[in-house]
Amino acid sequence: MIRANENYQKLQASYLFSDIAQRVALFQKNNPDAQIIRLGIGDVTQALAPAVIAAFHKGVDEMAEDATFKGYGPEQGYGFLREKIAVHDYQARGADISADEIFVSDGAKCDTANFQELFARDIKIAIPDPVYPVYVDTNVMAGRTGVFKDGRYRNVVYMDCLKENSFLPQIPKEPVDLIYLCFPNNPTGTCATKSELAAWVDYARQNKALILFDAAYEAFIRDETLPRSIYEIEGAAKVAVEFRSFSKTAGFTGTRCGFTVVPKDCSVFSDKGEPISLHGLWHRRQSTKFNGVSYPVQKAAEAVYSPEGRTQIKELVASYLDNADIICRTVEDLGFGYAGGKNSPYIWVDGQGRDSWEFFDLLLNRASVVCTPGGGFGRCGNPYIRISAFNSRNNVNLAMERIKEALK
Ligand code: PLP
Repeated sequence: MIRANENYQKLQASYLFSDIAQRVALFQKNNPDAQIIRLGIGDVTQALAPAVIAAFHKGVDEMAEDATFKGYGPEQGYGFLREKIAVHDYQARGADISADEIFVSDGAKCDTANFQELFARDIKIAIPDPVYPVYVDTNVMAGRTGVFKDGRYRNVVYMDCLKENSFLPQIPKEPVDLIYLCFPNNPTGTCATKSELAAWVDYARQNKALILFDAAYEAFIRDETLPRSIYEIEGAAKVAVEFRSFSKTAGFTGTRCGFTVVPKDCSVFSDKGEPISLHGLWHRRQSTKFNGVSYPVQKAAEAVYSPEGRTQIKELVASYLDNADIICRTVEDLGFGYAGGKNSPYIWVDGQGRDSWEFFDLLLNRASVVCTPGGGFGRCGNPYIRISAFNSRNNVNLAMERIKEALK
């Protein structure tokens, strides 16, 4: 008898976005004329930048000639891309990261999901609430949690992100081994300052813990005083892994490319307390289970760092940030409290006592606007909704007009 992985039985039945899709589909069926505007799932809407497309085409053309054709590439990514990442994303910001510490992948979802398999099953994990659901669910699948009860899995240290702490996770009172952090945050849109991140780095160094730092939205940081990478913090390369993605930075959600930085100084420990190179473990894992990202996609990603690419990508991000400003102004005018939206494409709106699904249904039914109910990101998200700035200017303006009308 083939038996199922019992950990999967602990997972909550439906994934947030399929729940939303079902409600939206039902609404559309009952209201066939409604022009629904989606500010829910965080997917980009604008085309790839011209410099990226040109490089992508060129990469495809190279695959059409025997002389330039590429077969299997290096599992860790081509040197041309890893070099650009190291120079532009890290060294230019004073972070001492080299190309061979960068592992190119098909996106941050897989990497944030897969990374936990390098650790023992009985480590203590600390996860913010609300949170990008992948961190929690993959630890559930791996058997690192207990059952789900009262909105939470047993054996996870949840870090409540509330209005009272400006939606920033606080260092847990009990000892933890693996800490998930995400800034700019999905879903709350908040950012950590250098001193806030430094406190986490100190904690990890003192406790032989490790930080998994998800920086998928770093491109949206406008405030120059905020860190874009955890490696801008002294000593972080000993205790932190960083995940990045071209998805939101450069519109690659459908193209698929990202990378993970695993510094060579980073260690985990054997049962006897001897240090083991984390870089070596991830290298072993990736070369066993992953065969690299397609060559044209890596050429396209490389173009993100060309002078034209950088300008075009900046414009792309700026246009989403302008959308975020419009959304922030609207919710402010309507008298709602909110977080995010300044250095982030997400606006985390306080429902003023409404439950998040109730607020979701209200916006869908009265304004034909789709948001994301905060409760889908964790128990602490229940009183909030997340509005995403990823849409066209026209749609954002129209959605805001409709919301004003619906809630006035
Ligand atoms: N990390 C966070 C916080 C995200 O919100 C997302 C996507 O929405 C990802 C990672 C996944 O990004 P990718 O498209 O690179 O898999």
